[in-house]
Amino acid sequence: MTARIIDGKILAAELRATIATEVRTLAARGVVPGLAAVLVGDNPASEIYVRNKTKAVQEAGMRSYDHRLPGTAGEAELLALVRRLNDDPQVHGILVQLPLPAGIDAPKIIAAVDPAKDVDGFHPLNVGKLNTNLPGLVPCTPLGCILLAKAVHPSLAGMEAVVIGRSNIVGKPLAQLLLRENATVTIAHSRTSDLPAVCRRADLLVAAAGRAEMVRGDWIKRGATVIDVGINRSAGEGGKARLVGDVAFAEAAKVAGAITPVPGGVGPMTIACLLANTLQAAQSQ
Ligand code: NAP
Repeated sequence: MTARIIDGKILAAELRATIATEVRTLAARGVVPGLAAVLVGDNPASEIYVRNKTKAVQEAGMRSYDHRLPGTAGEAELLALVRRLNDDPQVHGILVQLPLPAGIDAPKIIAAVDPAKDVDGFHPLNVGKLNTNLPGLVPCTPLGCILLAKAVHPSLAGMEAVVIGRSNIVGKPLAQLLLRENATVTIAHSRTSDLPAVCRRADLLVAAAGRAEMVRGDWIKRGATVIDVGINRSAGEGGKARLVGDVAFAEAAKVAGAITPVPGGVGPMTIACLLANTLQAAQSQ
């Protein structure tokens, strides 16, 4: 079997085009959605993400407000900026790029963002809404994973889903979204016994562990759909760095029914979902 490749770039482009149309409708009524990104310090991966995001925001016809603070900035300075953005009517969405430098209490900063502008979906109020099936802002990467899975299976109801990873950013919200879709969900983590056997149960396997090529071909049930969230730098030919996922792609593609590539799978969908959340926030403010 050779798996169908789930092309995140194409799906993200379609979603972004739909969003751009809705942004034009909203702008005609005098509201241009605005997203403020706050970057503290100079983490190279965060720089790339914020740069890509700024470009996507502008292409969708939204306004992008980037705020950069030095790595030496203190918690009080960051909190003051977040509060200013909360009060700014031009700003509908606020993204505080994680990780924050040591010495800044990330949960405190996340809790300071106005929940109505929390386009990352990390605020405890939005987490609670997700867990109690109330409408709210949902984390972008898990939302992107659901859309990728639904591109293959329009209904996920009754599917055996295994999520590797239980972070607040990916694993846990994704498990909640899968439950909402009526999948039967197992969350695996670093203390799970016999992870390969757990993975082999999955009709839908989502890997979000941050371990390069950990999921091998013989961990995958024949015909399963595999969503690879991992982004890991690995030494390629000639020592040149290349990006790999948490799944050993070549092996997995021989067994899976459908699989996302890295790069070009979950990454582009995460940015498209961030735009969707910003539009949603602007429409409801
Ligand atoms: P994280 O906070 O480090 O969480 C990793 C999770 O994986 C933890 O729950 C950990 O278990 C589990 N884990 C680690 N090693 C494991 C192992 N050997 N076996 C089973 N479980 C294991 O990472 P994250 O923020 O969720 O991100 C996960 C990956 O997704 C990273 O590669 C990250 O770069 C990537 N990512 C991609 C996007 C995107 O847009 N494509 C967005 C966000 C993240 P414990 O809880 O037991 O420690």
